[in-house]
Amino acid sequence: MEHDAATHSLKCPKCQHGMEEVTHEGVAIDRCTHCKGMWFDADEAHRLKDLKDGHLLDIGDPKDGWKWDSHADIKCPHCGKQMEKASDSKQKHIWYEVCRDHGMFMDAGEFKDFKFESLLDRFRSLIKGNRANIAP
Ligand SMILES: [Zn+2]
Ligand SMILES: [Zn+2]
Repeated sequence: MEHDAATHSLKCPKCQHGMEEVTHEGVAIDRCTHCKGMWFDADEAHRLKDLKDGHLLDIGDPKDGWKWDSHADIKCPHCGKQMEKASDSKQKHIWYEVCRDHGMFMDAGEFKDFKFESLLDRFRSLIKGNRANIAP
């Protein structure tokens, strides 16, 4: 769907199609109607990550998302400034773009990856934590 300011909250910074607002348990994010990339304002990515079913909003096919990884020179849909290329500190294969003033953009499938690896990490640290507690 082409971008139409009347029905779409934002214009996708990657493919220029319209984005629609989708909500999960009070956290509203913007998802592209075409490439299914997701825009997160401020701390929304972390808020959504903490919700059990937050990944359900990430409906895109990761295979499609990967195609968009190379389109990294994008501008913030809010202020038009060039966004910074970042990768997750723990999972270097997750690439996303950040505007320090407005938020971040993830390609389809990246949020799921971001969410689940972190659960695994938390689980690992839990085990390590227990072990440290038992050790003399
Ligand atoms: Zn898009
Ligand atoms: Zn911005």
